[in-house]
Amino acid sequence: MNSHVVPESKCTRCGMTFDHMSNVGPDQTGVPKNGSVAICFDCHHVMIWENNAPRDPNDAELIELANNHTIICIPYSSLKLTEH
Ligand SMILES: [Zn+2]
Repeated sequence: MNSHVVPESKCTRCGMTFDHMSNVGPDQTGVPKNGSVAICFDCHHVMIWENNAPRDPNDAELIELANNHTIICIPYSSLKLTEH
């Protein structure tokens, strides 16, 4: 699993700060793209990565996500991982 540095961001539900994302989908480059699905490492909230920031999915995206079982990217904080 590759990881990619992203601008410091916060989960739109729990506020967890993250600065890396790991790609666990079929495209193993680790680089999040506009429209990538991001799942919070702490609360598992599903977000959409757009313009180098997470946002909540709209209604159409939620319906699409409900029918897609592929997880694309998981954001996490490198600081949090090194604290353990
Ligand atoms: Zn969260």
